[in-house]
Amino acid sequence: MSAQKQVRVRFAPSPTGDLHVGNIRTALFDWAYARHTGGKFIFRIEDTDRERVTDEYIQAAIQTLKWLGLNWDEGPEVGGPFGPYLQSQRLDIYTEWANKFLAQKDAYHCYCSAEELEERRKAQMAKNQAPGYDGKCRDLSSTQIEQYKAQGRKPVVRMKMPAGETVFTDLIRGEVKFEHKYVPDFVLMRADGSPLYTLAVAVDDVLMKVTHILRGEDLLSSTPRQIRVYQAMGVAPSDYPAFAHLPFVMGQDNAKLSKRNGEVSIAWYKDAGYLPEAICNYLALLGWSPGDDVENVTMQQICDLFTVERVNSSPARFDMKKLQAINGDKIRALSQENFLTYAKEWLVKSQVISATESEIALLKRALPIIQERVATLAEIPQLLKFLFVKTFEIETESLSQIKNDSAKEVLQKSLAVLAQLENWNHSAIETELRKLLIEGMGLKPRVAFGPVRIAVTGSTISPPLFESLELLGKPESISRIKSAITLI
Ligand code: GLU
Ligand code: ZN
Repeated sequence: MSAQKQVRVRFAPSPTGDLHVGNIRTALFDWAYARHTGGKFIFRIEDTDRERVTDEYIQAAIQTLKWLGLNWDEGPEVGGPFGPYLQSQRLDIYTEWANKFLAQKDAYHCYCSAEELEERRKAQMAKNQAPGYDGKCRDLSSTQIEQYKAQGRKPVVRMKMPAGETVFTDLIRGEVKFEHKYVPDFVLMRADGSPLYTLAVAVDDVLMKVTHILRGEDLLSSTPRQIRVYQAMGVAPSDYPAFAHLPFVMGQDNAKLSKRNGEVSIAWYKDAGYLPEAICNYLALLGWSPGDDVENVTMQQICDLFTVERVNSSPARFDMKKLQAINGDKIRALSQENFLTYAKEWLVKSQVISATESEIALLKRALPIIQERVATLAEIPQLLKFLFVKTFEIETESLSQIKNDSAKEVLQKSLAVLAQLENWNHSAIETELRKLLIEGMGLKPRVAFGPVRIAVTGSTISPPLFESLELLGKPESISRIKSAITLI
């Protein structure tokens, strides 16, 4: 028995924008698989298309992975024994291999122009044949080649796809078979010498000794071409990486998740107040299950429990509500100190506080009453700004709700009672207001407390009312109720 090869998994995005939900689900599974098996997690940037993949997007991808806690063992910034890990810095390697394939006659120069290819494609379609390259340049005579050269044609490098089929065992979907009549000879290098994805990805997976390729199902059909490149590189079939194609992530409408049917950019979720551990927890459940109906998992548990056997082959549906619920759970699970750090950051960013000592002291008192309640960090400024504003104002929409006699009466009577209250704490405030408004006036809680809430917090949505009054303090609460009365 030979010793087990060390697992090497790679995440290989082509960042043509912010990484999206699907990319990160892949990255997370790659990372978890590497961590679970004690292997290496490689981060490789596939940036051969420098018109679409910019430095800015590459930086953003690096930051996003860091923010999520998906740390890599080899890749940008950390380096590693098989670098560089940016494909744009490996172009000579691809050229060398393409030349080798040409020399071995596994590949050939194809001189067909785009127009000619298109014309032949149309003809194939008209005859109900599978469209695709017809092998025209496979065996050109030297006279023909000279003629093409004389015409100034610049060839692409095309790989010969032999007759037959490619069969491999996908770790998620089992045996997958591709008949080569549907996999025509494919381009490895453009006429300008730039490599195509299929060449670069396969060469790098071999050179970087990748053992497992976990990636999106959209890449399933490129697998036979990649395997063809491994063959041409002289890799023994027993050394091919294993493939595991992850199920699609669908939107609520059952169409593939995209900008049209949901928010897809991870940066958006960050800006909307989602915690990295909530995003990872939620994405882990998209196509994978930790078992026993467990839904709340830590990063450590994801690593401990992750196996490819528990990845489902059917599509997963993205459910924003569930993500939100998990985010709320993760917020509740934060230590007071971490919640304070987040709250401070959000309140400063939205200019509610400038983090003075007295603001922080008040904030520390206020946080316990909202930590249980918020689903996203973005709710914090909205909920707490009434405590910190310099010039207090009631939201227009809320003001219109207290412009009536009954609200005025509630406020006037509450004012009288609260002005007399010696012990300004939430339970005393609650006792007094209940006695007055619920028992005394026979009002329903919403009718009773709604106007007070609007008067002191400026909004219909606030932290618990009595705690809010306590935090705001007696003088300010009294003054806000007075001024609300004058507005009615
Ligand atoms: N760079 C490819 C992409 O972003 C993925 C490569 C792979 O995982 O095979 O679509
Ligand atoms: Zn050709």
